[in-house]
Amino acid sequence: MKVLKFGGSSVANAANISRVIDIVLGQHQQDHDIIVVVSAAGGITDSLIQMAEAARSGNDSYQALFEALCRKHQEMIEELLGTNARQPVQTQAQKLCDELDNLLQGVALLKELSTQALDAIMSTGEQLSAQIISAAFNYRGVPCTYVDARELIQTDNKFGHAAVQIEATYQRIAHAFKQQQGLSVMGGFIAADQSGVTTTLGRGGSDYTASLLGAALDAPIIEIWTDVDGVMTADPRHVKGAFPLTSISYEEAGELAHFGAKVIHPKTMKPARLKNIPILIKNTFNPEAPGTLIDGVSKQRQHLVTGVSSLANIALLRLQSSSIKYISEISARVFQALSKEHIEVLLTT
Ligand code: ADP
Ligand code: ASP
Ligand code: MG
Repeated sequence: MKVLKFGGSSVANAANISRVIDIVLGQHQQDHDIIVVVSAAGGITDSLIQMAEAARSGNDSYQALFEALCRKHQEMIEELLGTNARQPVQTQAQKLCDELDNLLQGVALLKELSTQALDAIMSTGEQLSAQIISAAFNYRGVPCTYVDARELIQTDNKFGHAAVQIEATYQRIAHAFKQQQGLSVMGGFIAADQSGVTTTLGRGGSDYTASLLGAALDAPIIEIWTDVDGVMTADPRHVKGAFPLTSISYEEAGELAHFGAKVIHPKTMKPARLKNIPILIKNTFNPEAPGTLIDGVSKQRQHLVTGVSSLANIALLRLQSSSIKYISEISARVFQALSKEHIEVLLTT
């Protein structure tokens, strides 16, 4: 069983989805059993957050955003599927849009947006993309099963950045794919708590979903398809001379990701590392490029520095006291307060 994950830009529109389908079908000839994990179409999660926040603040602009989102997905269906094949997925997409509409109306009425409601709202993006892509595979003549990630990925109920309950999740995945062979499509990022309430794994979390699937099924490889040639020496959007790295270790990838290399979610490495499964980062828009292989082999390379990453939205908190008497108590209170608000501390001195 192979796991291939395609990010937001790879599934941003019908043309890109057709590209994704070609890549998967190219591999499907050799590997019959493939799970495709997809993100929401590029920009959709941001847009869902924007409409949720607008609804909370009583701003009617959320309705225009909502309508644009539903229209965009209906257009994707029209571009990907022939007239006779559209109806079932159009009905599904409409159902998801109706549910989203209800959620947004609830938020607007209450003028309150809980993290639980936001997770339910955000989950619409991956549900839509996965169902449409699954239908598009079927339309191309390849039988494909849509898998609801919320039935497999079990988490706690820390909405917005839920922690995965690994054992339960691996059992569910192994059980589901014992019976199910061939091609499957599943949304990344979304999950459910023990009571079945929708949760999410944190922004960019679809990479982590792919890694969990790969580890649960002892996949030979986890492929992460994105919009750059691999993990690069720096963010190519900021550094012109950045170049792709042929191979890096799990530790190097983890550290780069943790400190801002958005190309891979920091949690992705652990499930793969524990099962020694290599992760291959590939470019959907340049499939010929070799990509970056992330594995457990320690690297010797010409350059002393593997890469440079950067983080935006950093705050420096400086505390000063006239006495050092209560320093440990004060530190404990500061860390507790930050933790309560889910503010990550990167460096202390
Ligand atoms: P996807 O939607 O496929 O998950 P992301 O936008 O999350 O893609 O991640 C890919 C982006 O990560 C690239 O377009 C690039 O701008 C950014 N990035 C930041 N640091 C790096 C890096 N070191 N190497 C490659 N890409 C990086
Ligand atoms: N769609 C989610 C996000 O934008 C998850 C992902 O793309 O990995 O954060
Ligand atoms: Mg990403």
